[in-house]
Amino acid sequence: VQSVDFLIIGQGLAGSCLAVEFLKRDISFLVIDKINPNSASRAAAGLFNPITGKTMESTWRANEIFSALSEFYKSAELATGEKFLHTLPIYRPFLSADEPKKWQQSPHAFVTRAHTQSQYSTFINDDFGGLELNHCGFLDTNKFLSAVRRLLQQQNTLVEEDFIYEALDVNSGSYKNYVFKKAIFCDGTAANQNPFFSWLPIRKLKGETLQIQIALPQNILFNRGVFAVPMFEKNSFLIGSTYSHDTLPGNTEAGIEELSRKARILFKRDFSILSKNWGFRPTSPDRRPILGFHPENKKLYVFNGLGTKGVSLAPFFAVQLARHLQGQSELEPAVNIERFYSLYFKTQGQAKA
Ligand SMILES: Cc1cc2nc3c(=O)[nH]c(=O)nc-3n(C[C@H](O)[C@H](O)[C@H](O)COP(=O)(O)OP(=O)(O)OC[C@H]3O[C@@H](n4cnc5c(N)ncnc54)[C@H](O)[C@@H]3O)c2cc1C
Repeated sequence: VQSVDFLIIGQGLAGSCLAVEFLKRDISFLVIDKINPNSASRAAAGLFNPITGKTMESTWRANEIFSALSEFYKSAELATGEKFLHTLPIYRPFLSADEPKKWQQSPHAFVTRAHTQSQYSTFINDDFGGLELNHCGFLDTNKFLSAVRRLLQQQNTLVEEDFIYEALDVNSGSYKNYVFKKAIFCDGTAANQNPFFSWLPIRKLKGETLQIQIALPQNILFNRGVFAVPMFEKNSFLIGSTYSHDTLPGNTEAGIEELSRKARILFKRDFSILSKNWGFRPTSPDRRPILGFHPENKKLYVFNGLGTKGVSLAPFFAVQLARHLQGQSELEPAVNIERFYSLYFKTQGQAKA
Protein backbone atom coordinates (compact mmCIF):
# COMPACT_ATOMS: atom_id res chain seq x y z
CA VAL A 1 0.00 0.00 0.00
CA GLN A 2 1.32 3.42 -1.00
CA SER A 3 0.19 6.47 0.91
CA VAL A 4 0.01 9.96 -0.66
CA ASP A 5 -1.62 13.23 0.28
CA PHE A 6 -3.28 13.75 -3.12
CA LEU A 7 -4.46 11.66 -6.05
CA ILE A 8 -4.69 13.66 -9.27
CA ILE A 9 -6.95 12.02 -11.83
CA GLY A 10 -6.15 13.22 -15.36
CA GLN A 11 -2.97 14.71 -16.80
CA GLY A 12 -4.27 17.32 -19.20
CA LEU A 13 -3.37 20.99 -18.72
CA ALA A 14 -5.24 21.09 -15.38
CA GLY A 15 -3.63 17.96 -13.91
CA SER A 16 -0.18 18.75 -15.34
CA CYS A 17 -0.07 22.31 -13.98
CA LEU A 18 -1.29 21.11 -10.60
CA ALA A 19 1.34 18.34 -10.51
CA VAL A 20 4.11 20.80 -11.45
CA GLU A 21 2.97 23.13 -8.65
CA PHE A 22 2.82 20.22 -6.16
CA LEU A 23 6.40 19.26 -7.07
CA LYS A 24 7.52 22.85 -6.43
CA ARG A 25 5.83 22.78 -3.03
CA ASP A 26 7.10 19.33 -2.15
CA ILE A 27 3.57 17.98 -1.70
CA SER A 28 3.14 14.20 -1.97
CA PHE A 29 0.86 13.09 -4.80
CA LEU A 30 0.21 10.52 -7.49
CA VAL A 31 -1.20 11.13 -10.99
CA ILE A 32 -3.43 8.56 -12.68
CA ASP A 33 -3.92 9.17 -16.40
CA LYS A 34 -4.48 7.33 -19.63
CA ILE A 35 -3.27 9.20 -22.74
CA ASN A 36 -6.08 10.14 -25.09
CA PRO A 37 -4.89 11.86 -28.31
CA ASN A 38 -8.28 13.57 -28.55
CA SER A 39 -8.26 15.00 -25.04
CA ALA A 40 -8.73 18.78 -25.18
CA SER A 41 -5.15 19.44 -24.06
CA ARG A 42 -3.64 17.18 -26.76
CA ALA A 43 -5.91 18.51 -29.53
CA ALA A 44 -5.41 22.17 -28.53
CA ALA A 45 -3.60 24.70 -30.65
CA GLY A 46 -2.15 26.17 -27.46
CA LEU A 47 -2.65 29.82 -28.35
CA PHE A 48 -2.72 32.43 -25.58
CA ASN A 49 -3.90 35.95 -26.21
CA PRO A 50 -5.02 38.57 -23.68
CA ILE A 51 -7.39 40.33 -26.14
CA THR A 52 -10.04 38.18 -27.77
CA GLY A 53 -13.59 37.98 -29.02
CA LYS A 54 -15.53 39.96 -31.58
CA THR A 55 -15.39 43.10 -29.43
CA MET A 56 -11.66 42.62 -28.76
CA GLU A 57 -11.76 43.24 -25.02
CA SER A 58 -9.10 42.19 -22.52
CA THR A 59 -9.85 38.71 -21.24
CA TRP A 60 -10.96 38.15 -17.65
CA ARG A 61 -8.18 39.02 -15.15
CA ALA A 62 -5.73 39.36 -18.04
CA ASN A 63 -3.06 41.27 -16.12
CA GLU A 64 -2.60 38.73 -13.34
CA ILE A 65 -3.26 35.64 -15.42
CA PHE A 66 -0.88 36.55 -18.22
CA SER A 67 1.99 37.51 -15.98
CA ALA A 68 1.59 34.22 -14.07
CA LEU A 69 1.52 32.29 -17.36
CA SER A 70 5.03 33.00 -18.61
CA GLU A 71 6.59 32.64 -15.17
CA PHE A 72 4.90 29.27 -14.68
CA TYR A 73 5.76 27.69 -18.03
CA LYS A 74 9.32 29.06 -17.98
CA SER A 75 9.93 27.43 -14.63
CA ALA A 76 8.39 24.20 -15.99
CA GLU A 77 10.86 24.45 -18.90
CA LEU A 78 13.71 24.66 -16.40
CA ALA A 79 12.36 21.72 -14.38
CA THR A 80 11.95 19.49 -17.47
CA GLY A 81 14.81 20.75 -19.65
CA GLU A 82 12.42 21.12 -22.61
CA LYS A 83 11.20 24.12 -24.58
CA PHE A 84 7.45 24.40 -25.13
CA LEU A 85 6.54 28.06 -24.47
CA HIS A 86 6.73 30.25 -27.57
CA THR A 87 6.13 33.94 -27.00
CA LEU A 88 5.24 35.52 -30.35
CA PRO A 89 3.24 38.57 -31.45
CA ILE A 90 -0.22 38.07 -32.90
CA TYR A 91 -1.16 40.06 -36.00
CA ARG A 92 -4.86 40.56 -36.63
CA PRO A 93 -5.60 42.16 -39.98
CA PHE A 94 -8.27 44.88 -40.07
CA LEU A 95 -11.26 44.34 -42.33
CA SER A 96 -12.04 48.04 -42.93
CA ALA A 97 -10.37 51.46 -42.75
CA ASP A 98 -12.56 52.30 -39.71
CA GLU A 99 -11.26 49.54 -37.51
CA PRO A 100 -7.84 50.99 -36.62
CA LYS A 101 -9.47 54.20 -35.31
CA LYS A 102 -10.69 52.54 -32.10
CA TRP A 103 -7.14 51.52 -31.24
CA GLN A 104 -5.49 54.78 -32.18
CA GLN A 105 -7.87 56.74 -29.94
CA SER A 106 -7.45 54.53 -26.88
CA PRO A 107 -3.97 53.03 -26.49
CA HIS A 108 -3.92 49.63 -24.82
CA ALA A 109 -1.22 47.83 -22.82
CA PHE A 110 -1.52 44.63 -24.87
CA VAL A 111 -1.49 46.43 -28.24
CA THR A 112 1.99 47.08 -29.64
CA ARG A 113 0.71 48.97 -32.65
CA ALA A 114 -2.33 49.51 -34.82
CA HIS A 115 -0.87 49.43 -38.35
CA THR A 116 -2.88 51.33 -40.95
CA GLN A 117 -0.86 50.01 -43.90
CA SER A 118 -0.50 46.46 -45.09
CA GLN A 119 2.45 44.73 -43.37
CA TYR A 120 2.38 41.16 -44.65
CA SER A 121 0.83 41.41 -48.10
CA THR A 122 2.92 38.55 -49.53
CA PHE A 123 1.31 36.14 -47.07
CA ILE A 124 -2.12 37.42 -46.05
CA ASN A 125 -4.93 39.77 -47.01
CA ASP A 126 -4.30 42.84 -44.84
CA ASP A 127 -5.08 45.79 -47.15
CA PHE A 128 -6.22 47.93 -44.18
CA GLY A 129 -3.25 47.08 -41.95
CA GLY A 130 -3.69 45.18 -38.69
CA LEU A 131 -3.41 45.07 -34.94
CA GLU A 132 -0.16 43.83 -33.45
CA LEU A 133 -0.65 42.32 -29.99
CA ASN A 134 1.88 41.45 -27.30
CA HIS A 135 1.87 39.05 -24.32
CA CYS A 136 0.71 36.39 -26.77
CA GLY A 137 2.10 33.19 -28.20
CA PHE A 138 1.47 29.51 -27.99
CA LEU A 139 2.24 26.57 -25.77
CA ASP A 140 3.22 23.39 -27.59
CA THR A 141 0.76 21.46 -25.45
CA ASN A 142 1.82 17.98 -26.58
CA LYS A 143 5.44 18.76 -25.79
CA PHE A 144 4.50 20.24 -22.42
CA LEU A 145 2.34 17.25 -21.47
CA SER A 146 5.01 14.76 -22.57
CA ALA A 147 7.74 16.63 -20.70
CA VAL A 148 5.64 16.72 -17.51
CA ARG A 149 4.84 13.04 -18.01
CA ARG A 150 8.54 12.15 -18.14
CA LEU A 151 9.19 14.22 -15.03
CA LEU A 152 6.41 12.36 -13.20
CA GLN A 153 7.79 9.01 -14.38
CA GLN A 154 11.24 9.94 -13.06
CA GLN A 155 9.69 10.83 -9.69
CA ASN A 156 7.59 7.65 -9.65
CA THR A 157 4.41 9.67 -9.34
CA LEU A 158 2.54 8.49 -12.45
CA VAL A 159 0.25 5.52 -12.94
CA GLU A 160 -0.62 5.05 -16.61
CA GLU A 161 -4.03 3.44 -16.64
CA ASP A 162 -7.73 4.09 -16.88
CA PHE A 163 -9.05 5.34 -13.57
CA ILE A 164 -11.96 3.17 -12.46
CA TYR A 165 -14.31 5.46 -10.58
CA GLU A 166 -16.08 2.52 -8.92
CA ALA A 167 -12.78 1.36 -7.35
CA LEU A 168 -12.51 4.57 -5.31
CA ASP A 169 -13.53 4.03 -1.70
CA VAL A 170 -14.38 7.48 -0.46
CA ASN A 171 -14.91 6.53 3.19
CA SER A 172 -11.54 4.88 3.70
CA GLY A 173 -9.78 7.23 1.23
CA SER A 174 -8.37 4.41 -0.83
CA TYR A 175 -8.06 3.47 -4.48
CA LYS A 176 -6.64 0.04 -5.33
CA ASN A 177 -3.28 -0.06 -3.50
CA TYR A 178 -3.19 3.64 -2.78
CA VAL A 179 -4.32 5.52 0.29
CA PHE A 180 -4.93 9.24 -0.11
CA LYS A 181 -6.17 12.25 1.84
CA LYS A 182 -7.85 13.95 -1.12
CA ALA A 183 -8.62 12.97 -4.73
CA ILE A 184 -8.60 15.82 -7.27
CA PHE A 185 -10.45 15.15 -10.49
CA CYS A 186 -8.84 16.90 -13.46
CA ASP A 187 -10.66 14.70 -15.93
CA GLY A 188 -11.94 17.26 -18.47
CA THR A 189 -15.19 16.30 -20.21
CA ALA A 190 -14.97 12.79 -18.69
CA ALA A 191 -16.47 14.57 -15.65
CA ASN A 192 -19.81 13.92 -17.36
CA GLN A 193 -19.31 10.20 -16.61
CA ASN A 194 -17.74 10.76 -13.18
CA PRO A 195 -20.24 9.40 -10.61
CA PHE A 196 -19.14 12.02 -8.03
CA PHE A 197 -19.30 15.06 -10.30
CA SER A 198 -21.59 14.27 -13.22
CA TRP A 199 -24.05 16.85 -11.82
CA LEU A 200 -21.62 19.65 -12.70
CA PRO A 201 -22.71 21.68 -15.74
CA ILE A 202 -19.64 20.84 -17.82
CA ARG A 203 -20.58 20.94 -21.46
CA LYS A 204 -18.52 19.62 -24.35
CA LEU A 205 -17.59 22.24 -26.94
CA LYS A 206 -16.10 20.48 -29.90
CA GLY A 207 -13.12 21.95 -31.72
CA GLU A 208 -11.51 20.84 -34.96
CA THR A 209 -8.08 21.73 -36.34
CA LEU A 210 -6.12 21.06 -39.53
CA GLN A 211 -2.40 20.55 -39.96
CA ILE A 212 -1.45 22.24 -43.22
CA GLN A 213 1.59 22.73 -45.43
CA ILE A 214 1.92 26.44 -46.23
CA ALA A 215 4.72 28.98 -46.68
CA LEU A 216 4.29 31.43 -43.80
CA PRO A 217 6.74 33.19 -41.46
CA GLN A 218 7.31 31.44 -38.14
CA ASN A 219 7.93 34.52 -36.00
CA ILE A 220 4.39 35.94 -35.99
CA LEU A 221 0.94 34.44 -35.50
CA PHE A 222 -1.73 35.50 -38.00
CA ASN A 223 -5.22 35.37 -36.57
CA ARG A 224 -8.50 36.43 -38.11
CA GLY A 225 -11.25 33.89 -38.70
CA VAL A 226 -8.59 31.23 -38.33
CA PHE A 227 -5.13 31.28 -36.79
CA ALA A 228 -1.98 29.51 -37.92
CA VAL A 229 0.41 28.17 -35.28
CA PRO A 230 3.82 26.89 -36.43
CA MET A 231 4.50 23.21 -35.75
CA PHE A 232 8.29 23.63 -35.74
CA GLU A 233 9.20 19.97 -35.57
CA LYS A 234 6.82 18.97 -38.34
CA ASN A 235 7.63 21.94 -40.59
CA SER A 236 3.94 22.76 -40.98
CA PHE A 237 1.18 24.86 -39.38
CA LEU A 238 -1.85 24.07 -37.29
CA ILE A 239 -4.95 26.04 -38.16
CA GLY A 240 -8.07 26.23 -36.07
CA SER A 241 -10.41 26.12 -34.46
CA THR A 242 -14.09 25.46 -34.86
CA TYR A 243 -16.71 25.70 -32.10
CA SER A 244 -19.61 23.28 -32.20
CA HIS A 245 -22.02 21.61 -29.80
CA ASP A 246 -21.86 18.40 -31.84
CA THR A 247 -21.19 15.72 -29.22
CA LEU A 248 -20.12 12.99 -31.66
CA PRO A 249 -16.41 12.14 -31.85
CA GLY A 250 -14.41 12.69 -35.05
CA ASN A 251 -13.77 15.36 -37.65
CA THR A 252 -16.63 16.53 -39.83
CA GLU A 253 -16.97 17.68 -43.44
CA ALA A 254 -18.49 20.92 -42.14
CA GLY A 255 -15.54 21.54 -39.80
CA ILE A 256 -12.93 20.90 -42.47
CA GLU A 257 -14.83 23.05 -44.97
CA GLU A 258 -15.19 25.94 -42.48
CA LEU A 259 -11.47 25.99 -41.65
CA SER A 260 -10.42 25.68 -45.30
CA ARG A 261 -12.76 28.49 -46.36
CA LYS A 262 -11.55 30.83 -43.61
CA ALA A 263 -7.92 29.97 -44.42
CA ARG A 264 -8.51 30.88 -48.07
CA ILE A 265 -9.90 34.26 -46.95
CA LEU A 266 -6.95 35.04 -44.65
CA PHE A 267 -3.98 33.54 -46.50
CA LYS A 268 -2.76 34.38 -50.00
CA ARG A 269 -0.60 31.26 -50.16
CA ASP A 270 -1.76 27.87 -51.38
CA PHE A 271 -1.89 25.15 -48.80
CA SER A 272 -2.46 21.43 -48.57
CA ILE A 273 -4.05 19.55 -45.69
CA LEU A 274 -1.72 17.01 -44.05
CA SER A 275 -3.93 15.79 -41.22
CA LYS A 276 -6.89 16.76 -39.06
CA ASN A 277 -7.74 16.54 -35.39
CA TRP A 278 -10.54 17.28 -32.96
CA GLY A 279 -11.29 17.40 -29.24
CA PHE A 280 -13.91 18.43 -26.70
CA ARG A 281 -13.31 21.54 -24.56
CA PRO A 282 -14.70 21.26 -21.02
CA THR A 283 -16.79 24.45 -20.72
CA SER A 284 -18.82 25.89 -17.84
CA PRO A 285 -21.98 28.03 -18.22
CA ASP A 286 -20.34 31.21 -16.83
CA ARG A 287 -17.02 30.57 -18.63
CA ARG A 288 -15.07 30.40 -15.39
CA PRO A 289 -13.06 27.43 -14.14
CA ILE A 290 -14.57 25.17 -11.49
CA LEU A 291 -12.47 24.43 -8.40
CA GLY A 292 -13.21 23.06 -4.99
CA PHE A 293 -14.70 20.19 -3.05
CA HIS A 294 -17.77 18.05 -3.40
CA PRO A 295 -20.83 19.40 -1.51
CA GLU A 296 -20.94 16.32 0.73
CA ASN A 297 -17.35 15.16 0.85
CA LYS A 298 -14.27 17.28 1.37
CA LYS A 299 -12.02 14.44 0.21
CA LEU A 300 -13.21 14.88 -3.38
CA TYR A 301 -12.05 17.88 -5.38
CA VAL A 302 -12.35 19.11 -8.97
CA PHE A 303 -10.21 21.31 -11.15
CA ASN A 304 -12.15 21.66 -14.39
CA GLY A 305 -14.11 24.03 -16.62
CA LEU A 306 -11.04 25.49 -18.36
CA GLY A 307 -13.14 25.90 -21.51
CA THR A 308 -11.50 27.62 -24.46
CA LYS A 309 -8.60 29.10 -22.44
CA GLY A 310 -6.89 26.23 -20.64
CA VAL A 311 -3.37 27.38 -21.53
CA SER A 312 -3.71 30.67 -19.66
CA LEU A 313 -6.14 29.62 -16.90
CA ALA A 314 -4.48 26.35 -15.81
CA PRO A 315 -1.23 27.78 -14.33
CA PHE A 316 -2.91 30.62 -12.40
CA PHE A 317 -5.60 28.40 -10.88
CA ALA A 318 -3.27 25.46 -10.23
CA VAL A 319 -1.30 27.81 -7.98
CA GLN A 320 -4.50 29.05 -6.33
CA LEU A 321 -5.70 25.50 -5.71
CA ALA A 322 -2.34 24.36 -4.30
CA ARG A 323 -2.28 27.35 -1.95
CA HIS A 324 -5.84 26.58 -0.87
CA LEU A 325 -4.99 22.92 -0.21
CA GLN A 326 -2.09 24.03 1.98
CA GLY A 327 -4.40 26.34 3.92
CA GLN A 328 -2.69 29.46 2.60
CA SER A 329 -5.64 31.08 0.82
CA GLU A 330 -9.30 30.79 -0.04
CA LEU A 331 -10.62 29.85 -3.46
CA GLU A 332 -12.09 32.96 -5.01
CA PRO A 333 -15.90 32.92 -5.35
CA ALA A 334 -15.84 33.37 -9.16
CA VAL A 335 -14.25 29.93 -9.62
CA ASN A 336 -15.48 28.16 -6.49
CA ILE A 337 -17.57 25.06 -7.17
CA GLU A 338 -19.95 26.28 -4.45
CA ARG A 339 -21.73 28.38 -7.05
CA PHE A 340 -23.11 25.12 -8.52
CA TYR A 341 -23.94 23.29 -5.25
CA SER A 342 -27.67 23.91 -5.71
CA LEU A 343 -27.53 21.74 -8.86
CA TYR A 344 -26.20 18.85 -6.78
CA PHE A 345 -28.92 19.16 -4.13
CA LYS A 346 -31.54 19.32 -6.88
CA THR A 347 -30.33 16.02 -8.37
CA GLN A 348 -30.22 14.49 -4.85
CA GLY A 349 -33.80 15.60 -4.25
CA GLN A 350 -34.86 14.04 -7.56
CA ALA A 351 -33.04 10.79 -6.72
CA LYS A 352 -34.86 10.56 -3.38
CA ALA A 353 -38.30 11.48 -4.78
C1 LIG B 1 -9.46 21.91 -30.99
C2 LIG B 1 -9.14 22.63 -29.71
C3 LIG B 1 -8.36 23.76 -29.74
C4 LIG B 1 -8.07 24.44 -28.56
N1 LIG B 1 -7.25 25.51 -28.63
C5 LIG B 1 -6.90 26.16 -27.49
C6 LIG B 1 -6.01 27.26 -27.54
O1 LIG B 1 -5.52 27.63 -28.61
N2 LIG B 1 -5.70 27.90 -26.37
C7 LIG B 1 -6.23 27.50 -25.15
O2 LIG B 1 -5.92 28.10 -24.13
N3 LIG B 1 -7.09 26.44 -25.09
C8 LIG B 1 -7.44 25.79 -26.22
N4 LIG B 1 -8.30 24.72 -26.16
C9 LIG B 1 -8.92 24.41 -24.86
C10 LIG B 1 -8.00 23.62 -23.96
O3 LIG B 1 -7.54 22.54 -24.69
C11 LIG B 1 -8.72 23.16 -22.69
O4 LIG B 1 -9.14 24.29 -21.94
C12 LIG B 1 -7.83 22.32 -21.78
O5 LIG B 1 -7.06 21.44 -22.52
C13 LIG B 1 -8.62 21.52 -20.76
O6 LIG B 1 -7.70 20.78 -20.01
P1 LIG B 1 -8.14 19.72 -18.93
O7 LIG B 1 -6.90 19.23 -18.29
O8 LIG B 1 -9.20 20.28 -18.05
O9 LIG B 1 -8.88 18.55 -19.75
P2 LIG B 1 -8.31 17.42 -20.74
O10 LIG B 1 -7.31 17.95 -21.65
O11 LIG B 1 -9.51 16.75 -21.34
O12 LIG B 1 -7.56 16.40 -19.79
C14 LIG B 1 -8.21 15.38 -19.06
C15 LIG B 1 -7.23 14.25 -18.88
O13 LIG B 1 -7.83 13.28 -18.04
C16 LIG B 1 -7.67 12.00 -18.60
N5 LIG B 1 -8.76 11.18 -18.10
C17 LIG B 1 -10.09 11.47 -18.08
N6 LIG B 1 -10.77 10.44 -17.52
C18 LIG B 1 -9.86 9.50 -17.18
C19 LIG B 1 -9.94 8.21 -16.58
N7 LIG B 1 -11.10 7.67 -16.19
N8 LIG B 1 -8.80 7.50 -16.42
C20 LIG B 1 -7.59 8.01 -16.80
N9 LIG B 1 -7.46 9.22 -17.37
C21 LIG B 1 -8.57 9.96 -17.56
C22 LIG B 1 -7.73 12.25 -20.11
O14 LIG B 1 -7.16 11.19 -20.83
C23 LIG B 1 -6.88 13.52 -20.19
O15 LIG B 1 -5.52 13.22 -20.23
C24 LIG B 1 -8.60 24.00 -27.31
C25 LIG B 1 -9.37 22.84 -27.28
C26 LIG B 1 -9.65 22.16 -28.46
C27 LIG B 1 -10.47 20.90 -28.38
